[in-house]
Amino acid sequence: MRKDFLPFSRPSILEADIEAVAEVLRSGWITTGSKNAELEARFRETTGCRTAVCVSSATAGMHIALKALNIGPGDEVITPSMTWVSTVNLIVLAGATPVFADVDRDTLMVTADTLESRITDRTRLIIPVHFAGAPVDMAPIRLLAARHNNIALIEDAAHAIGTEYKGMPVGRLGTSIFSFHPIKNITTGEGGMVCSDDPDFEARIRRLKFHGLGVDAYDRQAQGRSPQAQVVEPGFKYNLPDILAVLGLGQMDRLKEMNHQRARLAGYYMEKFKNMEEILPLAVPDYPLKHAWHLFIVRLDEEKAGMDRDRFMAELKARNIGTGLHFRAAHLQKYYRETFPDIVGTLPHTEWNSQRICSLPLFPDMTPEDVDDVVDAIKAVLSK
Ligand SMILES: *Cc1c(COP(=O)(O)O)cnc(C)c1O
Repeated sequence: MRKDFLPFSRPSILEADIEAVAEVLRSGWITTGSKNAELEARFRETTGCRTAVCVSSATAGMHIALKALNIGPGDEVITPSMTWVSTVNLIVLAGATPVFADVDRDTLMVTADTLESRITDRTRLIIPVHFAGAPVDMAPIRLLAARHNNIALIEDAAHAIGTEYKGMPVGRLGTSIFSFHPIKNITTGEGGMVCSDDPDFEARIRRLKFHGLGVDAYDRQAQGRSPQAQVVEPGFKYNLPDILAVLGLGQMDRLKEMNHQRARLAGYYMEKFKNMEEILPLAVPDYPLKHAWHLFIVRLDEEKAGMDRDRFMAELKARNIGTGLHFRAAHLQKYYRETFPDIVGTLPHTEWNSQRICSLPLFPDMTPEDVDDVVDAIKAVLSK
């Protein structure tokens, strides 16, 4: 058995990153400033997006994006239930109604077909979620939204830093929100980025993330924004401190290399699971893409394994192998189950997966020997 605990994720932080943070601390300017501007520029270069705005988390970014689209009571917002609950929480907190579209059973992503069946006269926004590092098939979804009075689209790209869809990086078109939480492909501790090809939307995001102040130009002389800036509308306090933004710069330098290592490890897992019938990895979609391998998710065939997923996770933990659960379906979480009981049973693929999915360890500093340890532990658990 493995001696030390292998977590399912761990951020890759170099001494140079620690030194960069120390430099910001010594500089006299530790909150939003030049490092934010550099990280936004780096994001524009990498994804080809027209505008990029740093925020304190993807959740904060989603909050002000909903606000910028004036989503409120009477509006319906379509999203998968197979996602992190923050999006659904925000829809409800905005006074709007979440409407769940089912996902493809083997990619965990919504399709134009599953979305279309949920569109009504009140649909104002669709939030597709790129899953585990693979891209949603966006082209037919863009056509669908355009055909229905230009329903707004926001891509939840928390899993998709470095993902490409049909030769184009996620973020290049439309509006996408990225996360820099420690388990994501790059991290700033906490943080996020709102990318958009619409400068008016960007302007609104910039003011909503900082008290609703009308100007956000970082003034090197004044070390911040102009003291004369005025509130144009009530806003929030969702800015990213430079202490954190500087971490993102080092991470962006290594994005390709880190994602490459994730892909290598994922390929190795795939090979190992080819002949293990109890373990069903997610499918990689067949349209042209570049996978960011944010997560390595498998589904446990409970019958063949002779145990349920929760027991499987506990048994692995007892063998020093950490796992994650991405995600328990939002509509099956206590609050949503009790508030919207009629939804239970209407999302067969989501519910099937919610019960069986499990994320295995995958992070750039892992080695193929670590993968061997995970696979050996799984074999031991299944043969018990
Ligand atoms: C992590 C995650 C979020 C939230 O990101 P934060 O930066 O933690 O707010 C949103 N959606 C998905 C799919 C995620 O995985």
